[in-house]
This record gives sequence, structure tokens and C-alpha cells, in this order.
Amino acid sequence: MTTMPDWLPGIRILAWARDGGAQVDGYPWRLVLHTTEGGESQTTDSAQAGYSARGIWPHFTADIRNGKTWDIVQHGPLSRGATVMDNDAGGAAQTNRAHCIAIELIGQADRARELFSNEGFRWLGTKLAPIFGPGLVQFHGPPPHRPFVDATDGWVAREDAFQRFTIEEWNTYDGVCGHCHGPEDEHYDPGKVDIFLPSFFAGAGQTQVEEGDIVVAMSKEEFEALLNTTIDKRIDDLEKRLPGMMDQAEQRARVKLALSFEKTNQRDALIEAAKLGSERAASQP
Ligand SMILES: [Zn+2]
Repeated sequence: MTTMPDWLPGIRILAWARDGGAQVDGYPWRLVLHTTEGGESQTTDSAQAGYSARGIWPHFTADIRNGKTWDIVQHGPLSRGATVMDNDAGGAAQTNRAHCIAIELIGQADRARELFSNEGFRWLGTKLAPIFGPGLVQFHGPPPHRPFVDATDGWVAREDAFQRFTIEEWNTYDGVCGHCHGPEDEHYDPGKVDIFLPSFFAGAGQTQVEEGDIVVAMSKEEFEALLNTTIDKRIDDLEKRLPGMMDQAEQRARVKLALSFEKTNQRDALIEAAKLGSERAASQP
């Protein structure tokens, strides 16, 4: 077991004006990604004005947008909760204080695929490496039935949206997720960043991409067969949650095509990360 550090080395501090109280025991550590939804000219420094105005603060703010100078700042110690998530009376006992580490990425959820890159996420992984390890945040994203989403996925900005964790899932989750997964919340940021996670994990020092290893070991045909089964399951799940949406064969085919495209991108990212992982392993003295 390693202890979670309060402050990460080499990261500039811009202290928050308010924290959410001490982290509460009994929850695994997890990293929750957000996007600030600010404009093009927003920076890690100027984002502070928005946090002050709304009285909500994350632990970190990072700018890893393509074409910008990448930067990260830390606002508060990780042993204290951030104040970026909702917490309703009578629901989840804890949200912000449930061993969550909150990071706001400058940018907009609906533009995630266009704003961010594997390179930016790899850089971010190098900065956040100390939060990963045994007893700390684990190297995985949410399960396939709780994807990262954006507005093209339909009713995602609701408390009962299909991508949100149940209270049980939330209480036991130990990897990297998004505000979109938080129970009792209506936000769906940070958008579809799932394809960048293998690069993020590789940057944070993971030398083995478990899911990637399995995928890479498969032939194209085996992968496509698995892909179809996964997609059929996901469509069935959508059907249950949104009755009538998949009534028409044409609509089902369209969703299937979109999901295949998304999964193919994930496969490419996993392969890239796995290659990078073996390069790193080979270059270790
Ligand atoms: Zn958020």
C-alpha cells in the first residue's frame, strides 16, 4: 500500500479559496475528469475567476489542448475533497469527499476528440504519475456499459442518464472516470476522452496495457467478432433504457456503425499504447 501524496512534485500551486472537507475513509481512490467549458482564450490561470465566481474548485486544472502550451496547476491537497460534484441529500453518502481526485481540463466536452490528443494525455500522465499505484488510482477506465459520452449520445445530461454509475458502482470504483459518471449529477463532461486513456496510462508509467494486450493478441476476425458481441450488448442495453429508440432496423444499423467506428479508434489507441509500453520496457536499464 502506498500513501496518496498531498501535493504532486513539479506542479505549480494556485491555492483554492475553499475545499470540500477531509476525504472520507472507505472509498477507493479514483480520478474524475472534467472539462471547464470555457472559451478558446481560457488558461489554467484565468479559469480561477470562474471557480471563484461559482465557489467550486477541482484539485487540478490542466491545459492539454492541441496547439496550446501545455500546463497544469494544483489547487489543494489530495487529502481534502474538491467541490466540483453535486451531492444530494438522501443519495450517495459522499461524492467529492469519496477519495475523488478532480481535474478540470480546459476545453469543451462536445469537442473532446478534436481538442485533445494522445500526446497531450501522455504528457498529463507523466505529471499525474504519483497518483497511480497499489492502493491508489488504478490503470483502467469505466466498464463498457458506462462509457464516456457527449451530446451525440442522446439524454446524457440527466441524473438518470445511462452512462452514470449506480451508487454501488460509484462507491467501489477505483480507476479513471468522468463527471459524466457521477451519481446525483447532470453534467456529462469531459466528453469522449476514452480513446486517449491508454496513452494517459502509458505516460503515467504503466508498462503493461492489459486490455490492449488482449486486443492486440487477437486476429482481426476475432476482434471483429468480439466487437459485434459487445456492440449488440450495448444496443440491447440502450434499448432497455430508451424504449422505442431502436425500433427501426435503420436506426439500429446507424448506431452500430457509430459504435464500430468508436471501438476501432479505441483499438488503434490501445495498440499504440501497448507498443509504447514495450518500447519503454525495452529501454529500462
Ligand atoms: Zn464537471
